[in-house]
Amino acid sequence: MSFERSKKLYNEALNFMPGGVNSPVRACRNVGKTPLFIDHAKGDKIYDVDGNEFIDYICSWGPNILGHGNDEVIAAVKNACDKGLTYGACHEGEIELAKLIKKHMPSMEMLRLVNSGTEAVMSAVRAARGFTKRDKIVKFEGCYHGHSDGLLVKAGSGLLTNSIPDSSGVPKGYTDNTLLARYNDENSVRRIFEEYGSEIAAAVVEPCAANMGVVPPKNGFLQFLRDITKAYNAVLIFDEVITGFRLALGGAQEYYGVTPDLTTLGKIVGGGMPLAVYGGKREIMECVAPLGSVYQAGTLSGNPIAVSAGIATLKILESTENLYTDIDKKAERIENAMIKSGLNVNRVGSLLTVFFTDKTVVDYATAKTSDTDKFSKYYSYLLDNGIYAAPSQFEAMFVSYAHSDEDIEYTCKVIEKFNRK
Ligand SMILES: *Cc1c(COP(=O)(O)O)cnc(C)c1O
Repeated sequence: MSFERSKKLYNEALNFMPGGVNSPVRACRNVGKTPLFIDHAKGDKIYDVDGNEFIDYICSWGPNILGHGNDEVIAAVKNACDKGLTYGACHEGEIELAKLIKKHMPSMEMLRLVNSGTEAVMSAVRAARGFTKRDKIVKFEGCYHGHSDGLLVKAGSGLLTNSIPDSSGVPKGYTDNTLLARYNDENSVRRIFEEYGSEIAAAVVEPCAANMGVVPPKNGFLQFLRDITKAYNAVLIFDEVITGFRLALGGAQEYYGVTPDLTTLGKIVGGGMPLAVYGGKREIMECVAPLGSVYQAGTLSGNPIAVSAGIATLKILESTENLYTDIDKKAERIENAMIKSGLNVNRVGSLLTVFFTDKTVVDYATAKTSDTDKFSKYYSYLLDNGIYAAPSQFEAMFVSYAHSDEDIEYTCKVIEKFNRK
């Protein structure tokens, strides 16, 4: 494989963007590579500017559950484009998308459309604070909730990949109200609530963590969070930016049967366009302006093109029979190949991560025991064999509905032949 054109473009990009990228994990620095420049993508395949073809398991980091360039979604977008790109005004699509979301996530009694997951979580936290008139929030080590100031503490994802425990540029005062708990550790949460209970506005959590690699919640952990937040009159926020419409139509809240007060969505809900959502209990959402005094706004929020992609995607997800069992089975086949190869894998539905440690990964501390040099070798091995997976130990592998049997079979064969020594 030649990467000449990618390398040339990368060198040029370095002059214009920090690290040549618009989001840090794309830089591939931690795995000692230069990023591929993509020319186009279709179905389960992605093609770089040198004409190399890969089976894609990044899937744009989550949105592409239907694979790349789904024909119906593209047709909906083209159709929407013909009607203008943005109005900065109300349109019917906003209601249609809200209805679709609420149908599958009844806890979303009211919601707001925003433009990114970062914005959704930031706004949900603000709504929770406005509602409870309290300042503190509980966040879990290794969970990522976007790059807003107060949430950039032990935030997993690109920070963990690039060994940045806490971002600089965040004044200390901005994280003073962020209390850190350990994922899957009830005692750590209990201690925080016992000490600060009356000051805690919300606990925010990835119901299945996927930004320190995939780490499922232990049995009863989410219900415990539901109970303790309720006991202290704090808001429970599920950050379902990855899990929403991924683990099930009703997201992790359906999958695990635990209902939060507020939910954030992103990635899949925008069908590949910049769109995210926050919403939940009516009484909390009614605190948001213009009904209430919690301010949140957006010039492009509810953008008609993004909304059309979201609607088309959700309609396909809800009308395709056995879609979720099908994707999960594909992921299970890959999981089995990993196990055969002696790899340590965590899988939940169509999300999976191989960790290079002998420990069972249940939280941030155990995730960090993974040998990232070994991961780099594994990553390079996959890439050399035409498999495009996240260039980071601490991200998920995403399986889509577009992954063909043949490509899954090929992927399994490649993984089975991997020499982990
Ligand atoms: C990706 C992600 C975000 C941030 O979303 P952006 O659209 O990248 O701002 C927030 N929370 C979780 C759980 C995510 O996976």
